[in-house]
Amino acid sequence: ADWTAAVAAVRAVPTAGRVLLVCHVNPDGDALGSMLGFALGLRRLGLRQVQAAFPGPQRLPEPLRGLPGEQLLVPAAEAVADPDLLISFDAASESRLGELADRLTTAGSTLVLDHHASNPGFGAVNLVDPRAAATSVLVDELLNRLGVPLDAEIAECLYVALTTDTGSFRFAATTAAVHRFAARLLATGIRPGDISLRVLDTRPFGAVQLSAEVVGRARLEPGAADGHGLVWTWATQDDLARHGQPAYVLEALIDSVRCTAEADVSCVVKQTADSEWAVSLRSKGAVDVSRVAVALGGGGHQLAAGFTGRGSVDEVVEAIRRELTGALLVPTGG
Ligand code: 5GP
Ligand code: MN
Ligand code: MN
Repeated sequence: ADWTAAVAAVRAVPTAGRVLLVCHVNPDGDALGSMLGFALGLRRLGLRQVQAAFPGPQRLPEPLRGLPGEQLLVPAAEAVADPDLLISFDAASESRLGELADRLTTAGSTLVLDHHASNPGFGAVNLVDPRAAATSVLVDELLNRLGVPLDAEIAECLYVALTTDTGSFRFAATTAAVHRFAARLLATGIRPGDISLRVLDTRPFGAVQLSAEVVGRARLEPGAADGHGLVWTWATQDDLARHGQPAYVLEALIDSVRCTAEADVSCVVKQTADSEWAVSLRSKGAVDVSRVAVALGGGGHQLAAGFTGRGSVDEVVEAIRRELTGALLVPTGG
């Protein structure tokens, strides 16, 4: 990671310079929290023209609304066309920036902050560290090097990002340094109970009922994934419509399905259009699901990955079964 170049790229922007911050499509807590936390940091540095945007026409999912820095968000269609500096957060590749990816060529300079191993380093300067538990860890380090102290507003954004990507400090990337970072965030006075309740643990009743239906139809295939087992389920746009729910409520379902003891690999196939599906993959450790996702046109981490599937549910799951064979991280019987 080229910290010196990253600091220089930010410092090179005059106070009247235009900075555009972008993150991946369908932003999660890490993408949005990292972006808004850094946007606030740039404002603290005195930069006056700071915009944040994510691709697509969608509004933010309800749980991610109300974060500090939200007032710096602009619709993608209104994002400045030729910023002096473009900064990308939590996006593994250019394609994850959707219609905002063109700014990579029109911007004066480009900086990429990310923690996906598959990131090719698509910026002029790249802070890409696959060992980082969240992109917000890199945001914290860069803010520190820029001399921007953590305050409660920045900390709330970074805390949302950190808890999202560590599964509330449960996942393997949760190191001692992650807890020290969390401690510094909490020391600003933010209220973790309130934040977690709002962002992670509040859903409409219809979403609870929809979850029961989708989890209830899950299939277990003990023989798939080279004998490590696969559990999978799917949700259609009709399921959402019948329960009157927005698509984001499906994002939590993988966390119910992946508990299955008999399966190392879990999968939720979520319809986004006719014959188009957003696929979430999780592994407990025996299988590298990022290899599966990359092979099918997506990306992610060894234990959490995703891709866009085409065709019927059965065709999408069949493609996953095919790629799972040979995607072992540790040899069987080893
Ligand atoms: P999730 O299942 O939570 O949507 O995503 C899990 C991981 O896979 C995240 O790190 C995310 O960046 C990555 N991921 C999910 N969907 C896609 C996709 O369509 N393309 C790529 N490149 N990565 C994805
Ligand atoms: Mn993300
Ligand atoms: Mn992330």
